[in-house]
Amino acid sequence: MALMRDAGRIVAECHAIARELLRPGVTTAEVDAAVDRHLTTLGATPLFKGFPGDVPFPASTCISINSQIVHGIPGGYVLREGDLVSFDVGVKWKGWCGDAAWSYAVGQVDPEKTHLMAAGRYLLHRAIYNTAHMKKWSEVADDMTREARRLGVTLVKKFVGHGIGREMHEPPQVPNTMDRDLRRADFDLRPGLVLAIEPMVNAGKPDVKVLGDKWTAVTTDGKPSVHYEHTVGLTPNGPTLLTEGVGEPFDPLEPPVSPVP
Ligand code: MG
Repeated sequence: MALMRDAGRIVAECHAIARELLRPGVTTAEVDAAVDRHLTTLGATPLFKGFPGDVPFPASTCISINSQIVHGIPGGYVLREGDLVSFDVGVKWKGWCGDAAWSYAVGQVDPEKTHLMAAGRYLLHRAIYNTAHMKKWSEVADDMTREARRLGVTLVKKFVGHGIGREMHEPPQVPNTMDRDLRRADFDLRPGLVLAIEPMVNAGKPDVKVLGDKWTAVTTDGKPSVHYEHTVGLTPNGPTLLTEGVGEPFDPLEPPVSPVP
């Protein structure tokens, strides 16, 4: 976990670089290039570049705008005031991996996006906090599902979190909602596990379609989506953030405050 924390620190540096650049007039390709340069300078490996699929993923970061949920390909899109940007990056450093995503506002966003962002952050923080107080992942996922419903948002089922260590994607799968199929894949929350916990949260329906570029996943109703992810180590003293510094400061041992009472 100490070695993974070093990878996580680099992930947080990438987020700091991206966050600084997320302004009107900047293209998503420019954001990706700045992060890629940083990783090259350090000699760290960008885990998304060349990731296998129908076509290999062509960039070091995923940048997903507004109704794009995850896996957006950085390119010529010019950021505008009011855009919602989900930025995701995975890094390998000295043989160990870190992975984190966060959704950022470009300038002022509308009330629907503001609520969605608050709800998404809360659901991630609550899931992390709950790993110390629940025995099985299914309890955490069921709680997230109930809280999402209460907040008037939906959790995407199609994509899941994952174990992470020497490889970015290791068992177990970490689904954000547990239906009958996923319940077979339930697992015990035990010290020593390291999980990438990553709820994808939609303002409208939870349904997903993938664009013709074979990567970009979007909401089918065109409503906005957010993505919040930390790499989290489970210890005998509770969860610890291995990608600390990404997003707002958060103590995983303190219960997060709901945006809606
Ligand atoms: Mg991930």
